[in-house]
Amino acid sequence: MIEDKNQSRTPISELGEFGLIDHLTKHFEVTQKSTIKSIGDDAAVLDFKSKQVVITTDLLVEHVHFDLSYMPLKHLGYKAMIANLSDVYAMNANATQVTIAIAISNRFPLEALEELYAGIEAASKIYGVDVVGGDTTSSTTGLIISITAVGEVNKNDVVYRSGAKPNDLLVVTGDLGAAYMGLQILEREKEVFKVNPNNQPDLEPYTYIVERQLKPEARKDIVKLLKDLKVKPTSMIDISDGLSSEIIHLCKQSDVGAVLYENKIPLDPQVISTCEEFNIDSTTIALNGGEDYELLMTISQEDFPKIKGNPNLTVIGYMTEKEQGMHLITRGDALIPLIAKGWNALKDQ
Ligand code: ADP
Ligand code: MG
Repeated sequence: MIEDKNQSRTPISELGEFGLIDHLTKHFEVTQKSTIKSIGDDAAVLDFKSKQVVITTDLLVEHVHFDLSYMPLKHLGYKAMIANLSDVYAMNANATQVTIAIAISNRFPLEALEELYAGIEAASKIYGVDVVGGDTTSSTTGLIISITAVGEVNKNDVVYRSGAKPNDLLVVTGDLGAAYMGLQILEREKEVFKVNPNNQPDLEPYTYIVERQLKPEARKDIVKLLKDLKVKPTSMIDISDGLSSEIIHLCKQSDVGAVLYENKIPLDPQVISTCEEFNIDSTTIALNGGEDYELLMTISQEDFPKIKGNPNLTVIGYMTEKEQGMHLITRGDALIPLIAKGWNALKDQ
């Protein structure tokens, strides 16, 4: 559907491994004080003084996690960064550096990797992280990309999944389900394109949800907002697999139960209208659709006045004693147990 507009195809072999790394990374600037030595030696050197360091890795495999027929490489690079940075912010930490490992087949010319790195560079600039290293190797067919992100946090500010207490409020940022519905649109258009390549898709009614799928953002702003509001969540997790499974993670690790109100779940109007068009229940999508990269947290009731009315934060329920289990209260006041389907399971249905 999205054509490769770049006509020239320079084989990677023309540059060699070192030439390639140099070519792809020469624009990267160091902006973080904690970066002592960046790309170019056997390892990067970082200095975090008295701060604690968080570190997280994600691995993305072509045909498993992404499909290049509708995911432009630039977006893939950007999104791979976002998925990682989101995990750092979910610790209430500030992301500072990343390393990038890629395995590529000779199917990919230099121009394709330039696109991938353009996305990585855009994210590194917007989120203020330094690309300080990586590894480059070959693969027989598909593209594999693995990013490791590093962040810093004051010892007293770090937030785990395990600190939620009964009566804490369950709070979510942004809105849910849009990335999953964006994927449904892109997959539908891909099928249409297969049948008739001249058929140009009209994505206009779906701009928000398609953007949420192709160019998600990580909630760096929330880490700052919480600091400004002087709110330290009791637990936090990023929403990569759907609200339901993330609530279950918080509950299990904190040894508590939860009540979630269906009518409080924040949904964008485009999610609602697209769900109607596909004849699927928008609550199911918010619960099980993935890749929203919003933050789910619990906060103590005392902190409620500080977050009240903030457009970024929606109270969607509260935590209970573990014995009360994990439930959704529907609009019709029915109590339904929460189960973790995750978006991959949803895809197979
Ligand atoms: P080594 O042989 O010690 O693994 P490399 O030749 O693989 O070193 O890497 C040389 C430098 O380039 C290192 O600083 C490494 O971190 C960096 N690097 C390698 N591949 C990438 C990549 N895909 N993106 C960013 N930096 C990379
Ligand atoms: Mg190497």
